Amino acid sequence: MSLSGTYDDQNIFAKILRGEAPAITLFEDDIAIAFMDIFPQSPGHCLVLPREQARNLLDLSPPTAAAAIQRVQTLAKAVETALQPDGIVVTQFNGAPAGQTVFHIHFHIIPCWENVPRGRHGAGQADMGELKTQAEKIRSALA
Ligand code: AMP
Repeated sequence: MSLSGTYDDQNIFAKILRGEAPAITLFEDDIAIAFMDIFPQSPGHCLVLPREQARNLLDLSPPTAAAAIQRVQTLAKAVETALQPDGIVVTQFNGAPAGQTVFHIHFHIIPCWENVPRGRHGAGQADMGELKTQAEKIRSALA
Protein backbone atom coordinates (compact mmCIF):
# COMPACT_ATOMS: atom_id res chain seq x y z
CA MET A 1 0.00 0.00 0.00
CA SER A 2 1.50 3.33 -0.99
CA LEU A 3 0.86 6.59 0.83
CA SER A 4 -1.34 7.85 -1.98
CA GLY A 5 -3.90 5.61 -3.60
CA THR A 6 -7.55 4.91 -4.10
CA TYR A 7 -9.81 4.70 -1.07
CA ASP A 8 -11.03 1.10 -0.66
CA ASP A 9 -14.53 1.20 0.81
CA GLN A 10 -14.26 -2.44 1.88
CA ASN A 11 -11.79 -1.64 4.68
CA ILE A 12 -12.95 -2.64 8.17
CA PHE A 13 -13.45 0.94 9.36
CA ALA A 14 -15.61 1.77 6.33
CA LYS A 15 -17.73 -1.26 7.27
CA ILE A 16 -18.00 -0.04 10.87
CA LEU A 17 -19.02 3.42 9.62
CA ARG A 18 -21.76 1.84 7.48
CA GLY A 19 -22.90 -0.35 10.39
CA GLU A 20 -21.84 -3.51 8.56
CA ALA A 21 -19.26 -4.49 11.20
CA PRO A 22 -19.57 -4.24 15.00
CA ALA A 23 -17.86 -1.71 17.23
CA ILE A 24 -18.04 -0.66 20.88
CA THR A 25 -19.00 2.92 20.15
CA LEU A 26 -18.15 5.83 22.44
CA PHE A 27 -19.75 8.66 20.51
CA GLU A 28 -20.81 9.60 17.03
CA ASP A 29 -21.92 12.73 15.26
CA ASP A 30 -22.01 14.04 11.69
CA ILE A 31 -18.21 14.42 11.59
CA ALA A 32 -16.79 11.37 13.32
CA ILE A 33 -17.32 8.17 15.22
CA ALA A 34 -15.23 6.95 18.14
CA PHE A 35 -14.94 3.37 19.39
CA MET A 36 -12.75 1.03 21.39
CA ASP A 37 -9.69 -0.48 19.71
CA ILE A 38 -10.16 -4.25 19.98
CA PHE A 39 -6.39 -4.91 19.85
CA PRO A 40 -5.48 -2.26 22.42
CA GLN A 41 -2.00 -1.15 23.38
CA SER A 42 -3.33 -0.27 26.84
CA PRO A 43 -6.67 -0.40 28.69
CA GLY A 44 -8.88 2.34 27.26
CA HIS A 45 -7.16 2.56 23.86
CA CYS A 46 -9.75 4.06 21.54
CA LEU A 47 -10.00 5.49 18.05
CA VAL A 48 -11.57 8.56 16.45
CA LEU A 49 -12.56 8.17 12.80
CA PRO A 50 -13.69 11.07 10.68
CA ARG A 51 -16.57 9.89 8.47
CA GLU A 52 -15.00 11.44 5.38
CA GLN A 53 -13.58 8.87 2.98
CA ALA A 54 -9.87 9.57 3.28
CA ARG A 55 -7.04 7.06 3.53
CA ASN A 56 -4.89 9.24 5.74
CA LEU A 57 -4.32 12.74 7.12
CA LEU A 58 -2.85 13.95 3.84
CA ASP A 59 -6.10 13.11 2.01
CA LEU A 60 -8.41 14.62 4.62
CA SER A 61 -10.10 17.96 3.90
CA PRO A 62 -8.89 20.79 6.17
CA PRO A 63 -12.35 21.46 7.66
CA THR A 64 -12.73 17.80 8.62
CA ALA A 65 -9.19 17.71 9.97
CA ALA A 66 -10.00 20.70 12.19
CA ALA A 67 -13.29 19.21 13.36
CA ALA A 68 -11.74 15.80 13.94
CA ILE A 69 -8.98 17.06 16.21
CA GLN A 70 -11.64 18.72 18.39
CA ARG A 71 -13.32 15.32 18.78
CA VAL A 72 -9.93 13.81 19.61
CA GLN A 73 -9.44 16.40 22.34
CA THR A 74 -12.94 15.83 23.73
CA LEU A 75 -12.40 12.09 23.85
CA ALA A 76 -8.91 12.41 25.37
CA LYS A 77 -10.40 14.51 28.17
CA ALA A 78 -13.13 11.92 28.74
CA VAL A 79 -10.52 9.13 28.85
CA GLU A 80 -8.58 11.11 31.45
CA THR A 81 -11.71 11.60 33.58
CA ALA A 82 -12.84 8.00 33.18
CA LEU A 83 -9.60 6.08 33.61
CA GLN A 84 -7.24 8.52 35.37
CA PRO A 85 -4.14 7.65 33.31
CA ASP A 86 -0.79 9.31 34.03
CA GLY A 87 -0.40 10.21 30.36
CA ILE A 88 -2.19 9.94 27.01
CA VAL A 89 -0.60 9.27 23.63
CA VAL A 90 -2.46 10.67 20.63
CA THR A 91 -1.11 9.23 17.43
CA GLN A 92 -1.98 8.72 13.79
CA PHE A 93 -0.17 6.74 11.07
CA ASN A 94 0.04 7.57 7.37
CA GLY A 95 0.98 4.72 5.04
CA ALA A 96 2.04 1.15 5.75
CA PRO A 97 5.73 2.00 6.29
CA ALA A 98 4.60 4.39 9.04
CA GLY A 99 2.63 1.63 10.74
CA GLN A 100 -0.83 2.16 9.25
CA THR A 101 -2.78 -1.08 8.89
CA VAL A 102 -6.32 0.17 8.23
CA PHE A 103 -6.59 2.63 5.38
CA HIS A 104 -9.32 4.90 6.64
CA ILE A 105 -8.01 7.96 8.51
CA HIS A 106 -8.12 7.52 12.28
CA PHE A 107 -6.53 8.87 15.44
CA HIS A 108 -5.42 6.70 18.35
CA ILE A 109 -5.99 7.77 21.95
CA ILE A 110 -3.84 5.58 24.19
CA PRO A 111 -3.87 6.05 27.97
CA CYS A 112 -0.56 5.36 29.73
CA TRP A 113 0.33 4.60 33.31
CA GLU A 114 3.61 5.22 35.12
CA ASN A 115 5.92 2.19 34.85
CA VAL A 116 3.41 0.19 32.78
CA PRO A 117 4.80 -0.54 29.31
CA ARG A 118 2.33 -0.20 26.44
CA GLY A 119 1.53 -3.35 24.46
CA ARG A 120 2.57 -3.87 20.87
CA HIS A 121 0.62 -2.04 18.15
CA GLY A 122 -2.23 -4.31 17.00
CA ALA A 123 -1.25 -7.25 19.24
CA GLY A 124 -3.78 -9.56 20.96
CA GLN A 125 -7.53 -9.03 20.99
CA ALA A 126 -8.89 -7.67 24.25
CA ASP A 127 -11.53 -9.24 26.45
CA MET A 128 -14.84 -7.83 25.17
CA GLY A 129 -16.26 -7.55 28.69
CA GLU A 130 -13.32 -5.42 29.79
CA LEU A 131 -13.63 -3.23 26.69
CA LYS A 132 -17.33 -2.70 27.40
CA THR A 133 -16.62 -1.76 31.02
CA GLN A 134 -13.98 0.76 29.94
CA ALA A 135 -16.34 2.09 27.27
CA GLU A 136 -19.14 2.63 29.81
CA LYS A 137 -16.80 4.71 31.97
CA ILE A 138 -15.65 6.78 28.99
CA ARG A 139 -19.24 7.31 27.81
CA SER A 140 -20.22 8.48 31.30
CA ALA A 141 -17.37 10.98 31.25
CA LEU A 142 -18.56 12.26 27.86
CA ALA A 143 -22.12 12.73 29.07
P1 AMP B 1 -3.36 1.68 12.32
O1 AMP B 1 -2.20 0.75 12.41
O2 AMP B 1 -3.04 3.09 12.74
O3 AMP B 1 -4.00 1.59 10.95
O4 AMP B 1 -4.36 1.21 13.40
C1 AMP B 1 -5.43 0.38 13.17
C2 AMP B 1 -5.97 0.07 14.54
O5 AMP B 1 -7.24 -0.48 14.38
C3 AMP B 1 -5.13 -0.93 15.33
O6 AMP B 1 -4.79 -0.35 16.58
C4 AMP B 1 -6.06 -2.12 15.48
O7 AMP B 1 -5.92 -2.70 16.75
C5 AMP B 1 -7.42 -1.48 15.32
N1 AMP B 1 -8.46 -2.33 14.78
C6 AMP B 1 -8.38 -3.17 13.73
N2 AMP B 1 -9.57 -3.75 13.49
C7 AMP B 1 -10.43 -3.26 14.41
C8 AMP B 1 -11.81 -3.46 14.69
N3 AMP B 1 -12.55 -4.30 13.97
N4 AMP B 1 -12.35 -2.78 15.71
C9 AMP B 1 -11.62 -1.94 16.46
N5 AMP B 1 -10.32 -1.69 16.25
C10 AMP B 1 -9.72 -2.35 15.24
